[in-house]
Amino acid sequence: MRNAIVVGGGLAGITAALALQDSGEWNVKLFEARKHLGGRVSSIRDPDTGLELDNCQHACFRVYDHFLQLIGRCSAEKSIKFQQKTMISFTNPNSGEIGHLYDSNLKPPNHMAKSLLKFPHLKFKEKLSMRKVVKKLSKMTEEERMDLDDISFEDWLISNGQSRNSIETFWGFFVLAALNISAKKASAAQAAFLFRRGLFGKFDAFDVGGFSHHLSHIFENDFETTLKDIGVEIHKSTKINSLIWEKGSCIGVNTSSNNFNADLIIMATPHHIANKLLKTGNESTKHICEKLEMMEYNSLIGIHGLYSKKFIDDDFHFTALVHEPIIQIVFNRNFELNEKSNSNIHQWLSVPVSYADQFLNLSNDDLEEEYKKIISKVWPEHLNFLEKVVIVKSPKATFSTKIGSTKYRLEPNENVPGLIFCGDYINNNWPSTMEGSVTSGLMAAASALELKDWRNDDLWDNWPEPPRRGDENWGKF
Ligand SMILES: Cc1cc2nc3c(=O)[nH]c(=O)nc-3n(C[C@H](O)[C@H](O)[C@H](O)COP(=O)(O)OP(=O)(O)OC[C@H]3O[C@@H](n4cnc5c(N)ncnc54)[C@H](O)[C@@H]3O)c2cc1C
Repeated sequence: MRNAIVVGGGLAGITAALALQDSGEWNVKLFEARKHLGGRVSSIRDPDTGLELDNCQHACFRVYDHFLQLIGRCSAEKSIKFQQKTMISFTNPNSGEIGHLYDSNLKPPNHMAKSLLKFPHLKFKEKLSMRKVVKKLSKMTEEERMDLDDISFEDWLISNGQSRNSIETFWGFFVLAALNISAKKASAAQAAFLFRRGLFGKFDAFDVGGFSHHLSHIFENDFETTLKDIGVEIHKSTKINSLIWEKGSCIGVNTSSNNFNADLIIMATPHHIANKLLKTGNESTKHICEKLEMMEYNSLIGIHGLYSKKFIDDDFHFTALVHEPIIQIVFNRNFELNEKSNSNIHQWLSVPVSYADQFLNLSNDDLEEEYKKIISKVWPEHLNFLEKVVIVKSPKATFSTKIGSTKYRLEPNENVPGLIFCGDYINNNWPSTMEGSVTSGLMAAASALELKDWRNDDLWDNWPEPPRRGDENWGKF
């Protein structure tokens, strides 16, 4: 058995550790700087209500094959509830007009076409001109897609006849929510991946999934128990200060109290930390640091509205708010509340503010006022029951998929002896998502196991298949 050290206990590190230890070929030690595993997927306890509130709404989609395999591998199927039909509602808070996008029996990429024809927020002419773009996106080769990395998605859409309104209401909404950046700043290659793989991919690809337990619960219970059960040695609250090098190879890590040596180090930290750790080391990593220097982050803000009385039906799950720059989408989180009988909170709304870089300087009071104002347009009675608004700002939420960013993403194996990289920023096409980080963990494991023919679109052998619609073992809504 060879020994591996994984630095970082986010989804990428957890996945790499689990896949390697599962192989029976590696013994794994996992080091996590914080008290808890989970990294950017985390919750904080609100002292007033006792509720565990996530740093921001985390949504997943049925297209997240590897993430769902990981959930299955850790027997956490019931912690996610999935739509059994893609259904995305769009509300104009000023006019009250509501439209829905949903799939039909037409074949992808046209499975959303029927609902799009009835969609009230776009003009008929705009809908007709979208057909050309959908066709172009579906027919594009991977080379053609990658050629779009140096132009903005907005420019590409304009050159393909899209109006300002359809960019803002339709294309831009999905880019904002999934890439956490505006269509104006986003790499067109990255946005094209989103639509090809997601909305216009398989008929069920965009079924939305939400968590039925708070996020820390899943990491502390299901993931951590599974890792321990198979023998991964977990060191929490243990920060790696530097890497240990010998003759150009990485041979270990250093904590404040100890050195740990291993045959392989898997670096599963966010990219700016990887850069910091590599800088203290070796000349041979200089070219990697130069790439990592060029990477940036985009921010997210999570707004939670907590109420003393339930005023929204259980069958309302979420709606996008068209033409709203800050309160872009509202989720009903009551299916998590039902399991918390002690709480005096009976209605929980959560708003993820995507691409929040420009709003980070707003005070919490300003953000709360904006929340109250916009939510009042949709549910005028809400102020009667509002107990408190909790705001969580995450400045380094997702690596930026800005124009030209793909060339800076690392490969798992960058030819540094003894070192493999993983983390959502690894070059696997996915934007900064839970699926991207789990995929990167599997890529790192595949590289360590020398699985030459494993491609990052393949399912991970011996882990449960991801769920399809109607799967009884998984939660539904
Ligand atoms: C607010 C927010 C909302 C999001 N919403 C969504 C969503 O709805 N859907 C979605 O798919 N994705 C979402 N994301 C993105 C997703 O959470 C991330 O892409 C993913 O969790 C990154 O996982 P990772 O393992 O690559 O990195 P991380 O989660 O950052 O894990 C890295 C780990 O390394 C640890 N570490 C760092 N330095 C050291 C050190 N020196 N020694 C030891 N350990 C160290 C960190 O503490 C951390 O635990 C969201 C992110 C945020 C912040």
